[in-house]
Amino acid sequence: PYDVLVVGGGPAGASAAIYSARKGIRTGVVADRFGGQVADTMAIENFISVKETEGPKLVANLEQHVLDYDVDLMKTQKAVRIEKNELIEVELENGAVLKSKSVILATGARWREMNVPGENEYKGKGVAYCPHCDGPLFKGKKTAVIGGGNSGIEAAIDLAGIVEHVTVLEFGDQLRADDVLVKKAESLSNVTIIKEAMTTEVIGDGQRVIGLKYTDRKSGESHLVDVAGIFVQIGLVPNSEFLKDSLELTDRGEIVIDNRGQTSMPGVFAAGDVTTQAYKQIIISMGAGATAALGAFDHLIRS
Ligand code: FAD
Repeated sequence: PYDVLVVGGGPAGASAAIYSARKGIRTGVVADRFGGQVADTMAIENFISVKETEGPKLVANLEQHVLDYDVDLMKTQKAVRIEKNELIEVELENGAVLKSKSVILATGARWREMNVPGENEYKGKGVAYCPHCDGPLFKGKKTAVIGGGNSGIEAAIDLAGIVEHVTVLEFGDQLRADDVLVKKAESLSNVTIIKEAMTTEVIGDGQRVIGLKYTDRKSGESHLVDVAGIFVQIGLVPNSEFLKDSLELTDRGEIVIDNRGQTSMPGVFAAGDVTTQAYKQIIISMGAGATAALGAFDHLIRS
């Protein structure tokens, strides 16, 4: 069995693996997609001491750093179940069961989707989730942002500097973003904010997005907006579905941890975007991975 089995290969998992391996204990990593969200990121300018890098570059560095140690790296493997018997068992999608004395869950999060017709079909053909990555592709064009929370309004402000016009569609009767962001967005001449708008369909010409349909929730009327790009900003979903019968999660699905990364299952720790940790960032996930690894090591030397 492993001493530490890390589930997840994003910044949190990579950091947890390195901290564990440096203790000279048997360490494994299972990752569905090594690199996690970082693999989808373009410019990274807030990874302290590295002025600027790109996601794929950072992912390559993470992998190299992990492989510098004696770590069993199992890529493209998905965990589907965790159970505590004498050891902690992690079952993979392919049916294999890995056993470990401790486990660190670092399965991260993913963008929430609208689940409307056309969204899937036009993903990457106008439907986007990352303004930092894809904003420049819509230079001089009309775009929409779905969601009036902090990420939606930030996206609108960001895009307004690049694209011709931004329409923000918020489902509720109020924006949920911080006041300063709302004021800033409202001050921009090329940003229109529509509230009580339920997006119902992504419209395309077979090749690319050409518009979207929404229903005015007050009047019930349907409207068409001409846009070339649609940025969906309606939240992050923790990748914790497979844990819901095993561990304590919040009602949003985040794994509840203490300040050492310990979850409600003894010997199981967690780190990064999948947890209750405030602020979802690379550097924060890496710190949390280190915390969880040291927490797991502490647990191992006491049991
Ligand atoms: P993730 O990066 O989500 O990694 C999760 C890992 O777990 C992946 O390897 C995944 O394949 C794996 N996994 C999931 N489920 C399973 C399973 N069941 N079994 C096995 N493996 C599983 N942060 C910044 O600090 N600066 C930025 O500039 C920045 N830009 C961003 C741009 C974009 C487009 C996105 C999406 C995010 C950005 N972030 C940025 C946020 C940052 O990427 C995340 O906070 C960080 O990646 C979280 O790390 P994590 O290790 O917790 O999770």
